[in-house]
This record gives sequence, structure tokens and C-alpha cells, in this order.
Amino acid sequence: MTILRSGSMQKMRVELSDTIQYFLELDDQPLLMNDLLGKEVYLKNLGDIHCSHCGRLTKKSFSQGYCFPCFKKLPQCDLCMMSPDRCHFHLGTCRDEAFAESVCFNEHIVYLANSSGIKVGITRATQVPTRWIDQGAVEALPIFRVKTRQQSGLVEKIIGQHISDKTNWRKMLKGEITEIDLVAMRDELLETCRTELAQLSEEHGLQSIMPITDAQVQGLNYPVAEYPVKISSHNLDKTELISGVLKGIKGQYLILDTGVINLRKYTSYSIEFGLIE
Ligand SMILES: [Zn+2]
Repeated sequence: MTILRSGSMQKMRVELSDTIQYFLELDDQPLLMNDLLGKEVYLKNLGDIHCSHCGRLTKKSFSQGYCFPCFKKLPQCDLCMMSPDRCHFHLGTCRDEAFAESVCFNEHIVYLANSSGIKVGITRATQVPTRWIDQGAVEALPIFRVKTRQQSGLVEKIIGQHISDKTNWRKMLKGEITEIDLVAMRDELLETCRTELAQLSEEHGLQSIMPITDAQVQGLNYPVAEYPVKISSHNLDKTELISGVLKGIKGQYLILDTGVINLRKYTSYSIEFGLIE
């Protein structure tokens, strides 16, 4: 076995290109994973997890990379991050107002994407297209530009009455994605939700919730040589060492010939990564 990198797991950094580029960043030397397609690789759980906020040793990783006290305290672990329509800033109970100012009270995008079928989602404007790639979407289309995270959540909720807001990761990884005309879907959904969206705009001010009508569909092409027929997933909590031939990368998953692994699930784990030779 040849060690290539060792360190604390973070989600892979992505770069949009003809084929999306994935970088594993276990230490300060990013490793271009695309180059390893077709090679037999391994991941080893070195056995300790250090909170990505405070560095404390933790038995379990909460909310992708935090210790329990940080999970209970940090604004990024609050329920309203998952359900932005439940923002409680106005009640004076925000966990960290400076965080809210820098993250929540910033431009957000509501988008349609085809990940395992059509879905609606939200993201900070600065996270486009990273968010789409992390979800394994093959196409995405921004449909609203809104002023705050909460507003994006409210728009998402209205549209989410008609389409999913989730990705079926098994289906996403099988790569059997039916083509969808996102522009036509956008027009249809805006028409269906016209009254509710107009009411929301009225409540929040017309400048706050702006439809995007001139956006192009962004196609996203993943480095996948071969999609799995059957999905079985590896678990580094149960198996300390996993290995297999790297067949592809999609979302934050490595597709090995022996099974798939969601690297994001192991954020903050000490991991060794290398080649079986
Ligand atoms: Zn912590």
C-alpha cells in the first residue's frame, strides 16, 4: 500500500470544468482524484475524530464534523439551517447574530435541479455551482434570487408542494437519470404557484424575491467511468479499511467497484488515503 494523503476528512473541493474536478483535501496538499480513476485505492479510518470547530476529540461526529457541545451551540448546526423557513432571528433567539448577518442575510438562490429526478433547492449565491455538484445534479437552473435565507426557504416550501426537495442518492449514483426540461418545469411551476408566490413577494417586498428568467441550464458532467448496477455502501465506522477500484466520483461519493462511500459522512475523521499496490 502507498500512502498518498493523511489527515482530517473534509468534503472534496470541486471545480466546474468539462468534467468536474474533485480534490481530496486531507492535508494542505490537495489531491486531484480524477487522476485516480481506474486505480485500486483504499481509505483507512485512523480511529479518531476531532471536532472541526473546536478540535476536541469526539467519539461521534455530529452534523457532519462537530462534537456534541458545538452541535448544540453553533448556528450552522441549528434546525433553521436545514429548514430555513423556520428562521427564528426575529424572536431574538438566533444562536449567533454575526453568523446570521454574514450567512443568512445574504443573497440566496432558489433552483431546480435534476439529481435523481427533479428537485427544488436553495443555496447561498456564492455556493453556486458547488451545492449542485455536492448533490450530484446533472443539470440545474436558478429560478429565484432572494435577499435572505429565510425567504429562500419560504419560496422552496411553496414550490416543494409540487416537487421533491430531496435527492434519492441511490438513484443519483446509479446514473439512470431521465432527462427533464428544467425551463419548461420552471414555467409550469411558476404558473401553478403564481398566487402564493405573489403573496409572498407582497409580504416581503418585490425587490426581495426576484424571479430569474434569463438563466441558462447548467449541465454538470461527473468523472464516472462506470455506474454501479447495485448500490452497496461502505461504512468506515464498521470497517476500518475499505478498498476498491475507483470507478467514478459523483456528489461527494466515491464509486468503488466494491461499493460506494459518502465522504461527507466522515467529515473530521482522521483518514489515510492511498493506493493498493
Ligand atoms: Zn467542538
